[in-house]
This record gives sequence, structure tokens and C-alpha cells, in this order.
Amino acid sequence: MQRSRPNGIVIAIDGPSGAGKSTIARMLAEQLDYIQIDTGAMYRAAAFMLSSADVDLLDLEAVSSFCNDLEIKLESDSGKQVVLANGLDVTKLIRTPEMSLITSRISTIKPVRDAMLKAQQKLGAKGGVVLEGRDIGTVVFPDAEMKFYLNASVEERARRRCEELNNKGEQVTLEQTVINVAQRDRQDSERDISPLRQADDAILIDSSKLTAEEVLSVITAFCKEKVKNMVVKL
Ligand code: C5P
Repeated sequence: MQRSRPNGIVIAIDGPSGAGKSTIARMLAEQLDYIQIDTGAMYRAAAFMLSSADVDLLDLEAVSSFCNDLEIKLESDSGKQVVLANGLDVTKLIRTPEMSLITSRISTIKPVRDAMLKAQQKLGAKGGVVLEGRDIGTVVFPDAEMKFYLNASVEERARRRCEELNNKGEQVTLEQTVINVAQRDRQDSERDISPLRQADDAILIDSSKLTAEEVLSVITAFCKEKVKNMVVKL
């Protein structure tokens, strides 16, 4: 294991919304006994708090000081993710389709990204982490030992997202969800700072026709090989 990362390697899983990152990151972290860091949840929490506090998003100094003072905690309660922002449980509040679009817009603001970047680098510094997001392999941990880019067709991603929301009791149609997912793809990949992009050294996995278990077994095989090689090298 690298001495600079006493707890293990850094595993980056990037990709667009609905590609299955969260499911895979959770299962992988469980299997390796690593910590899962859902960076999307951090951006959602920041966006929610900025909107609730009515911070003027054009006042970059105000945004910067608000975000730097914001304490976001990702916890787990019987295997379920709990997101706390300044002590407030925002887990459910940040998961609506409206918050998804608001987050995608707010995450284009530089001071927001700067604050999240700093927090994410700190959380992952010791290694032993699976980070999922849009810019982990390109910006947050360009030196991550393992990088994956998880993708799937827009239709399949929207179908999954729609099913997930309907299961939670939210009445959304597939047509609405396709539009929502496509709009978020556009916003996330066309922004100037840290756009959604596959890192040159990331392994691309198309999950359109794969089950979560199948994706996990491919990813686990790559990770185990990497960890084994690193241990042998020392
Ligand atoms: O992953 P999730 O869909 O929860 O992310 C919500 C939004 O947060 C994304 O659409 C994207 O705009 C933003 N995000 C980001 N960089 C990350 C993770 C999420 O810009 N690393």
C-alpha cells in the first residue's frame, strides 16, 4: 500500500446520473470495507442549503464564505445513507427532481466547487475510499489508483431513475424523466469548470445491459488485481 494512503487505495467512479454509480459504490465499499463518499450528495446538500438560506448566487464572496462554513456529513444508518448539513438531516429533501436540476446549476459556480473539492480531498486523503461523482478521476483525485467511468444509454438511465422515484412514491413519468436526465447531462458536461468527462486512464463500463452484480464483479476484479499488485510491489 502507498505510504501516503495508509487506509488503502482511492477508487474513483464517475459518470452521468442514473448510470448506477451509487449502487456500485455502496456495494464495492461494503465488499472492500472501504468508505463510500457520494460527492453528488455533497453538491445536493450545498445547493439545498444555499437555496434555503437565500444566498445571492451572483455574490461570489457570500457563496464562498457560506460554503466554506458549511459542514456536510455523510453517515450511514443501518446501511442507508444519511446526509447532514450543519446538523440538519437533508437526506430526503435533496433527492427531488427539482433539487437535481437546481444542484446541477449551482454546481457550476466556482466557489461551490472549490469548497466541495477541498472537502472531498480531505475526506479521501488517507485512502480506503470509493468516491463517486462527475470529476473524481479528472480533478478531485487525478492520481486515484483506480478509475472507472460508468455509463448507460439515456433511456436506460431515465428508466432506472423513474423506477427509483416511483418506488419512493413520487409520481413522475418516463417522458419527464428522460427530459430531466438529458438536461442534467447537458448541464454537467457543458459547464466550464470540471465538466463531466471520462479521465484518459479510466476504465469505461457500459451498464445498459448489465445487472448491478455483473458491473460489481468486473470492477471488483480490477480493484483486487490492483491492490494485489501494490502489496507485492512493497
Ligand atoms: O450524483 P448526483 O446525481 O446526486 O449529483 C447531483 C449533481 O451534482 C450532478 O448533476 C452534478 O451537477 C453535481 N455533481 C458535480 N460533481 C460531482 C458530483 C455531482 O458537479 N463530483
